[in-house]
Amino acid sequence: MPSGAMTEDMLSPVATATGATRFGPLEKVHAFWFAGMSCDGCSVAVTGATLPSVESLMLGAHPGVPRVVLHHPVINMESGPYYLQPAEQAVAGKLDAPYVVILEGSIADETIAHLQGGYWSSTGEEPWGPDGELRPVSSTEWIARLAPNAAAMIAIGTCATWGGIPSAEGNPTGAMSLMDFLGKDYRSVLGVPVVNVPGCPPIGDNFTETVAAVLYFLQGFGPLPEFDELGRPAWLFGETVHRRCVRGAYYEEGTFAEEFGDPECLVEIGCWGPVVNCNITSRGAIAGLGGCMNAGGACIGCTMPGFPDKFTPFYSRPPGSLASTTVSRMVGSVIRPLRKFSNNNLNREVRWDKQGATPSAYSRERSEPSGLSNVGHKFYDRLRRHGDTARHDADVWGKRPDESPSGGSPRGDRANV
Ligand code: SF4
Ligand code: SF4
Repeated sequence: MPSGAMTEDMLSPVATATGATRFGPLEKVHAFWFAGMSCDGCSVAVTGATLPSVESLMLGAHPGVPRVVLHHPVINMESGPYYLQPAEQAVAGKLDAPYVVILEGSIADETIAHLQGGYWSSTGEEPWGPDGELRPVSSTEWIARLAPNAAAMIAIGTCATWGGIPSAEGNPTGAMSLMDFLGKDYRSVLGVPVVNVPGCPPIGDNFTETVAAVLYFLQGFGPLPEFDELGRPAWLFGETVHRRCVRGAYYEEGTFAEEFGDPECLVEIGCWGPVVNCNITSRGAIAGLGGCMNAGGACIGCTMPGFPDKFTPFYSRPPGSLASTTVSRMVGSVIRPLRKFSNNNLNREVRWDKQGATPSAYSRERSEPSGLSNVGHKFYDRLRRHGDTARHDADVWGKRPDESPSGGSPRGDRANV
């Protein structure tokens, strides 16, 4: 039994009460969410977004950003013909506000399914043929109907952006991306090409932030957000994930994990991070937390157009990493001992150096630096302070005034030089 209780009727009095959504010419924008060849993981990821959250977008809580009237098959209360009504109005040009279309999952070649009398993915039914029999309307058909008059077409997740897993080798459904389906020349009514937010699943915040930026543009308040040559938000996908990886320093020092659970760089057990555009290590998966290498997983390239075929077999070493890890090991074998040498010294107060003893009870067994080590640090200290006109020997600093060789305040000495 279809439900006629409309989500929009429930939310709009609450959303418009604050007036925030009136901050601009557009009070609202409809967002039609369709699923093609998808696992619904993108929907799950987006419901976890916090910056901004889906709820705040639907409630118009961001001044200057029109509120989002979301039509999502899982979230909305209405069902059956009531659910389809706004989409049909959009196709007929009778909707009360502009709309964007969001596609999760890849677009299937429905002609393959029709040959067997079936379909791959659909939303709703419509009467069809001379006897008016109901038939499923494929997601592909909805996209073709809505794209020409959409304010923006947004692909979420790697299946919708690049074809993803459904289009992997073999590809029995003829799956393809939204960009492949609409073609190079596609532009929305506002002149925007397809927007792509990849990931399998994508980071929810990457998506909601991009939607908010596009809505801000539609409102006329901001420029069109910067997208790269593949339609990705440039500020989110401009860097490789390796550059901000929490394990990057291990790579630099030439130490590598041998099995999952080890804390070091994961490249030798299958991480493709150095050649993958992704921001999960800096942004986190949900609410700034978790995400692949942060949580112990290796990058398998899920945001990339070449995923999955160009990254398989997963969790085996990328062949191209051999040269760089060999160099890292060689450099690291020199750098690591030098850093350890400095690190040991920097873990000591100047006073302890002078006294030749560490007063911590925890370090009772700790051996004091050797004479050779002291000479080395003395030399390093000279290098570090070279050119410093306020330079004194290190043992002057950190003393009480009455301990200073000059008998005065070390700070005073410095100020007088
Ligand atoms: S774990 Fe991957 S992304 Fe991180 S430093 Fe190693 S190779 Fe780079
Ligand atoms: S780090 Fe790699 S596997 Fe993880 S989300 Fe980014 S691209 Fe996907």
